[in-house]
Amino acid sequence: MHRDSVISIDMGGTKVLGCVVNSNEGIIARVKKPTDPASTRKKYVHQLAEVVYELIEKSHINREKIKAVCLGVPGTVNPDTGVIGIAPNLGLKNFNIKRMLEAEISFPVLIENDVNLGALGVKNFGVGKKAKNMLAVFVGTGIGGGLIFDDELYRGSSFEAGEIGHMLVKKNGPKCGCGNKGCFEAIASRTAIVNNIIKDIKSGKRSKLSKLVKSRERIKSKSLASAVKSGDKVVRKRINEGCDVIGGVLASISNLLNLDMIILGGGMIEAMDFYMLPLIKKSFSEHVMNNSAAGLKIVASKLGDDAAIFGGIALAEEFLGVMV
Ligand SMILES: [Zn+2]
Repeated sequence: MHRDSVISIDMGGTKVLGCVVNSNEGIIARVKKPTDPASTRKKYVHQLAEVVYELIEKSHINREKIKAVCLGVPGTVNPDTGVIGIAPNLGLKNFNIKRMLEAEISFPVLIENDVNLGALGVKNFGVGKKAKNMLAVFVGTGIGGGLIFDDELYRGSSFEAGEIGHMLVKKNGPKCGCGNKGCFEAIASRTAIVNNIIKDIKSGKRSKLSKLVKSRERIKSKSLASAVKSGDKVVRKRINEGCDVIGGVLASISNLLNLDMIILGGGMIEAMDFYMLPLIKKSFSEHVMNNSAAGLKIVASKLGDDAAIFGGIALAEEFLGVMV
């Protein structure tokens, strides 16, 4: 017999990861499914409902034991009303997904920004358990951040806090997906680092990734990690530059907020924390104000994609008062 649980769904652009999870047993069922957010809203919500029912069937859990369905949205949300402000990768704008999904399934629906949900997961069920004031940073396609102050998620005045990826790092720098120039993620995300490596290779520099670039394959974190391991100079140089910027930005944030922990996650860090963390820490200590970060720890998250899934447990407790 399973205990009371929540269903967490991490909504990606092309697929979703849904899990039945509780704090005692962890993840008891997992479903990964392609979804099509480009279809009508009704059809998309119906696809999410199907994930919910599939999870219940797969986990053999009694329906009454499901206390909430928590959605991790790659975009801006109002967790009080259940409205998605804008989720560019899903093509959704001003959409009360909570109301529409609740009309289809008989469980309370909660929504939160996916990165915030990841921060909640790391804070409550990962390496951040002991942290009181913490920043979670996820480095991948972009760079996302979630802030915990006094053990609670800080959402900001209109629920948009934590957008670390769009802090200005270089005036008139490379163009960012948000429309501005020189944002942190336009300089130090995997996308930005890979773009620099491609430029180097096209200009004639030799790299283990030359073949991938020639055949126009997507360069994933794994390929970067194996190039780093084999001592690839081009790849190492560009990743070193990225780590230098990441460390500098984290030092600025530490000066501003006096945190006790910074947790790094996301595809890049997961694939090569052994290489990136020491470089980030070095740059951090070079840029941080003397003694202001004496007790601060920089650590890698070990939860991977499951961070946001576990975050659903904390969200259900915060909004519904249920402990699962
Ligand atoms: Zn930006």
